Amino acid sequence: MSVLVVGSIALDTVKTPVEEHADLLGGSASYAAVGASFFTPVKLVGVVGEDFPEDHLTFLRGRQIDLVGLQQLPGKTFRWSGEYMWDMNIRETRSVELNVFEHFTPTLPAPYLDSPFVLLANIAPSLQSHVLDQMQRPRFVIADTMDLWINIARADLEALLTRVDMLILNDGEARQFTGETSLIKAGHKIRAMGPQFVAIKKGEHGCLLFGQNEFFSCAAYPLEDIHDPTGAGDTFAGGLAGYLAANATGAVTFEQLRHGVVFGSVLASFNVEAFSLERLRTLTQNDIDIRYQAFRLLSQFEVLR
Ligand code: AMP
Repeated sequence: MSVLVVGSIALDTVKTPVEEHADLLGGSASYAAVGASFFTPVKLVGVVGEDFPEDHLTFLRGRQIDLVGLQQLPGKTFRWSGEYMWDMNIRETRSVELNVFEHFTPTLPAPYLDSPFVLLANIAPSLQSHVLDQMQRPRFVIADTMDLWINIARADLEALLTRVDMLILNDGEARQFTGETSLIKAGHKIRAMGPQFVAIKKGEHGCLLFGQNEFFSCAAYPLEDIHDPTGAGDTFAGGLAGYLAANATGAVTFEQLRHGVVFGSVLASFNVEAFSLERLRTLTQNDIDIRYQAFRLLSQFEVLR
């Protein structure tokens, strides 16, 4: 089954303590769509400007991503620039140029309206809701968000939460949103606002998954070399959504979500090995399978008496 992905498509400039690269393919929807495409067909909704390189469109098409819902408008593509500190869990946004993104309204082509799985990657919550307004009730809707929307569009985000099955956000955002220092309390508090499931990401420390009476703590795959953490969360969300669409028959269960966050973590671990989506360009199913097995083995433990 296919996944509909909506979010930002960007040209990013990223600086880490050792390298800086400009005008890279980025955006929440780019990472999420490519992440999901390793498991299932993807339909992409987003906007780019006239300056968006044809090479990037060729790459997305090559991943079997349906681009009928991608608008190309007069003007420049959304641009974002960020800088990572020595602790690469810490990032500062250096600049944002909205460009064609400023007046973007996600409009779904008719064949997208009955998509069973929907990933509302990071964009304004009012736009995420606008996507749901156009759809017949999808089977499973995942939303991602960020600190900006918690600060400037809280009411819209709260309204969205009553309409989604799962919210994904990072640890800092969960604390900011709920006013709780405990991530466990924060996860339960967000669930009480609507979504049946919540995933709280903790960067290189993994993620926490909350259900009604279930809880799962998933590690992150330990990497020696991290080159660019940008889009790790989006790739995680894409991998999770793609895995669910490919494997969930009937209602999505907590057990399927457990597997989904493991595969999402595997995909994210590849993504941070190179700038932009470079590592995902060469990634194979065999690479994913090998890392999944390695991750499984090092996550297991036994109590020795
Ligand atoms: P992440 O590392 O998961 O926070 O995602 C980084 C991506 O989000 C970058 O590729 C940016 O282009 C994109 N991004 C940054 N700010 C925004 C925003 N306000 N709305 C949508 N996407 C954004």
